[in-house]
Amino acid sequence: MESILILTYADETGSALTKASLEAVTAGMELAGRLGASLTIGIVAVDPAAAAVALASTGARLLAVCGEAFSQARYATDAAACEALCRAAGASIVLAPGSARFTRVAASVAYRVGGFIDTHITSLKVTGTSGVESVEAGRWFYRQRVEAVLARDARPWFMLLDAGTHAPFAGESGTASVEEIRLQLPVLRTTVTGLRAPEHGAQTIRPDAKLLLVAGAGWTKKQSDGQMHASEAGELILGFLRIADASLGSSKSLVDQGGDGQPVLPFLTHLNQVGQTGSTPRHLKGLSTCCHGEEPHVVGWRFIAERRAISLDPNCGWTRGKADVVYIADAFAVMAKLNALLERAKAEEGRTLMASDAEASLAVVCP
Ligand SMILES: Cc1cc2nc3c(=O)[nH]c(=O)nc-3n(C[C@H](O)[C@H](O)[C@H](O)COP(=O)(O)OP(=O)(O)OC[C@H]3O[C@@H](n4cnc5c(N)ncnc54)[C@H](O)[C@@H]3O)c2cc1C
Repeated sequence: MESILILTYADETGSALTKASLEAVTAGMELAGRLGASLTIGIVAVDPAAAAVALASTGARLLAVCGEAFSQARYATDAAACEALCRAAGASIVLAPGSARFTRVAASVAYRVGGFIDTHITSLKVTGTSGVESVEAGRWFYRQRVEAVLARDARPWFMLLDAGTHAPFAGESGTASVEEIRLQLPVLRTTVTGLRAPEHGAQTIRPDAKLLLVAGAGWTKKQSDGQMHASEAGELILGFLRIADASLGSSKSLVDQGGDGQPVLPFLTHLNQVGQTGSTPRHLKGLSTCCHGEEPHVVGWRFIAERRAISLDPNCGWTRGKADVVYIADAFAVMAKLNALLERAKAEEGRTLMASDAEASLAVVCP
């Protein structure tokens, strides 16, 4: 009989669980339900009280490692906390969010407790008949081109779950008791003095955004007047990101520019690149602009549920079945009008705009 432990941790408030942790809770509950397995949730937090309230309706056994030492990500304390939770739970399957914080420690925790680990898990399935069930985990290889199904006899089996593959758990609040696991802190050689992050306005990669805007190399190419309009392109792109709170992706051609004196968009880095040699983000919707939609780029759109593109070329890759809607139009004109419509809608209604507003405005601009 399997038993499941879900490892979770609190966000910067020190008490509320991160979204990725809540996604792992959903995955673990579904798996436990299908296996009829016992469920334990391990919490790493300064104070686990708020997490316990949020998790009360799971009915799971709650274990916590808590205290100021666990307020921030640090290899030694996080590894020690997760190890203590694993030993206390003694589970055969351990699920954890594949976030930067837990990805850093999970392999060593698995090693310490004699387990095996798989990463980038996107789905969990149970096969077989009652009493002889088998767990199968899905993940993608070769830049999301090949989907594999993994099964293991070895236990404990650790699995790091990719973000965005499960809905975050949101149950009724309630009261639940938490068993505190005390541990001897390891020798701490790292002192976390604070967090340095780009200012909100400067951050263009927003994994939690509903909408992904992709910029392609067309933005810095000569336009119909024979001129390049890179600074106007930058203003239109940043304007849209600001108003729609979208995340920014790019084609490889655009982020590679600059080496031979071509105009560049200064806010783009290789971290923005989407595709075979870039990232594979997960957003509900995506809008591609000035991008040709070639396969090495579009393979990075695998998990974008709804795709739209604006391109001048009626023969671009997007029109060949890679987008749901393609606007054969000048992206400079479309985005200028789209931004104006969104600005107006925002001013009139005084609310934060969503992906659906961008879509509605886009339909007005390009009927
Ligand atoms: C091994 C390998 C790995 C690769 N990995 C990646 C990867 O990870 N990600 C990636 O993106 N690429 C990758 N590539 C490159 C990829 O094949 C393409 O070369 C690249 O995606 C092209 O970028 P683009 O569409 O922005 O530029 P272009 O091909 O130059 O297309 C620009 C488009 O903009 C349009 N346009 C111009 N002006 C306007 C306007 N005013 N309005 C609307 N449209 C306009 C043009 O019609 C054109 O279709 C890889 C290639 C290889 C060989």
